[in-house]
Amino acid sequence: MARYDLDRDAVAAAVDRAAPGAPRYRADQVWEGLYRLRVGPDELTSLPLPVRRALAADPALAAALSCEQEVSADGGATRKWVWRLADGARVESVLMYAPGRATVCVSTQAGCAMACGFCATGQAGFTRHLTPGEIVEQVARAGRDVTHVVFMGMGEPLANYDATWAAVRRLHGDFGLSARRLTISTVGIVPGIRRMADEDLPVNLAVSLHAADDALRDELVPINRRYPLAALAAACRDYVDATHRRLSFEWALMAGVNDRPSDAAALAAFARPLAAHVNLIPLNPTPGYPVQGSPPAAVRAFRDALRSHGANVTVRRPRGRDIDAACGQLAGQAPPRSAGRAPATCHT
Ligand code: SF4
Repeated sequence: MARYDLDRDAVAAAVDRAAPGAPRYRADQVWEGLYRLRVGPDELTSLPLPVRRALAADPALAAALSCEQEVSADGGATRKWVWRLADGARVESVLMYAPGRATVCVSTQAGCAMACGFCATGQAGFTRHLTPGEIVEQVARAGRDVTHVVFMGMGEPLANYDATWAAVRRLHGDFGLSARRLTISTVGIVPGIRRMADEDLPVNLAVSLHAADDALRDELVPINRRYPLAALAAACRDYVDATHRRLSFEWALMAGVNDRPSDAAALAAFARPLAAHVNLIPLNPTPGYPVQGSPPAAVRAFRDALRSHGANVTVRRPRGRDIDAACGQLAGQAPPRSAGRAPATCHT
């Protein structure tokens, strides 16, 4: 348990412990610090110094994440943090700036058990689930200007459903981020998608598809053997009907694997009836998977083929590839400093 795992009563109890007899508004100040200012009690200058010191020493109010490394790339448009958790596990989050928005991509598990072969996190295996507070703190530590959150970092969010959804509630209710600014990405955990459809917060759903025929998807995304494409399509349909949110499919283009004309035709046939938007991104290289991302001409040809089949498609620019911050590259490693990388800093 750490500061973002506490509810208001638990924060008030911690304040009582640290500063017996303190007026109730001290607890409100600490809560406001955590959720509006996004700082810990030690940085709350509105508190008297002895109270601040006592709160900073209370383990219940400790930070869950200590910054092991922070690097930025693209002239500061992308930042990546490697966080160490209290038990030594590592996770990463990535902040991406675009005009008018600052999107943080958070991890929901240390490692991942889904074993997608092309993904650095999958190659490293599963360590443990994150708590809601460990997920929320990644957003808080990314700064006050975060406008959007995507649950697309390390781990499969719907394999850690309760903590992920508790984090969604906190970000919505206490950080004030509307559901349409929150996106949960899944590799296709059908029961999780169905649970999301029953929730009262209609967040965006992104499905990491990567293949639109079962034989290839079984290979690339092993969970497809349990939840094949027909079941996934039915769950997606029910989600869209229940929430009226736009569905998106993520497709990492792998040279010679899923960038053929037949793949474009199958993807378009899968996406069109669901009115899903397709996001294409060339596969990011990882040490454990020898396949290269599709070259630019193949990406354009695939995009054009999708369009000719009537699908909506966007080509995403890979962000932060040089700092291993791009999709599929998060492995919880503190990367070595090398020429061309911005210096690592940790000031959060
Ligand atoms: S792609 Fe996503 S679900 Fe698959 S192994 Fe990587 S983190 Fe897990």
